[in-house]
Amino acid sequence: MADMDERLNQWLRDAHAMELQAEQMLDAQAHRIENYPELSARIEQHIIETRSQKQRLESCIERRGTTWSGMKDFAGQFTAVMQTVGGMFAGDEVVKGVLVSYAFEHLEIASYRILQAGAEAAGDVETARVCEEICREEEAMAAWIEEHIPQVTQAYLMRDATESEAAKR
Ligand code: MG
Ligand code: FE
Repeated sequence: MADMDERLNQWLRDAHAMELQAEQMLDAQAHRIENYPELSARIEQHIIETRSQKQRLESCIERRGTTWSGMKDFAGQFTAVMQTVGGMFAGDEVVKGVLVSYAFEHLEIASYRILQAGAEAAGDVETARVCEEICREEEAMAAWIEEHIPQVTQAYLMRDATESEAAKR
């Protein structure tokens, strides 16, 4: 059982690193989208949820008698790639932000489903419960983004068209 517990601890640390990354990403996004108040408000709400997720993970890690370390590479590499993709299309950051966020929420959903299954296998009922709870928040965020992709995309395209018309005059 020692291996199973150690593996679960490692996954919890990975999730903790992922949430650190999520917080940074959401913070960076929130500052760039003042023209999209609804999106901005939902992101601010998810920043608060993300900080709380990080704390709930810390409680699980502590309860299991281990510690979390600093930033791990796993999630960092993911965002580095996505930021590169975003940088190739300067100007449409809001759309690329939605793209990255939608993908990231699904990375989180998968991570917490795996963690929940792992915690159940290891008999850690409280960790399983916490991971299920967090997973619901990620699903809610993913669903919100999905619902608002058309609106954000079309608002961006309208704004972009208006701005380039104005530039021609
Ligand atoms: Mg999260
Ligand atoms: Fe999230």
